[in-house]
Amino acid sequence: MKINVAQQLRESVGSVRHVTINETTEPGFAIRGELQLLRTNRSILVSGKFDTTARDVCSRCLDEFGYSLALDIEEEYFMTRDPVSGTPLTPPPESGVFTVDEHNLLDLSEAVRQYTLLAQPMKPICREDCAGLCPQCGRNLNNQTCDCTPIRPDSPWAPLQGLLSGNRQMPDKERG
Ligand SMILES: [Zn+2]
Ligand SMILES: [Zn+2]
Repeated sequence: MKINVAQQLRESVGSVRHVTINETTEPGFAIRGELQLLRTNRSILVSGKFDTTARDVCSRCLDEFGYSLALDIEEEYFMTRDPVSGTPLTPPPESGVFTVDEHNLLDLSEAVRQYTLLAQPMKPICREDCAGLCPQCGRNLNNQTCDCTPIRPDSPWAPLQGLLSGNRQMPDKERG
């Protein structure tokens, strides 16, 4: 995901370019972006939006699944050489700053990777109504059923399931 900014670096401070990214990183996983590149006195400031896909493991059923993510990106890519004289420039000393490399290429891959990681949910679920694993036999209830006594995860008694184990006195006056 590299953009050649050689020409823009020779333009004056404040010049703006618009770039469209459309790449397939692996089959079925695309990255699309609409970006604005702004030439500053020390860098190219990249801002814009990405649509990408992430792959994760469902926290309920443990199946791997893919889902789409929308990312808002703003990152500064510092020059390492003066674009006219070629004099080396020193980017800020903070660790992890992005730079334009010696071939005037600006590589977005690492930034996209980091933003994707930050945007991924702590407890991803493959779909809203994922049935999860049977807490008793461990079967994936999205694909098969089992003969265990079901306690639906949305049952008001589900949080009490642990407390009730060994005590089968389920109140049933509400049942009709
Ligand atoms: Zn799931
Ligand atoms: Zn079961």
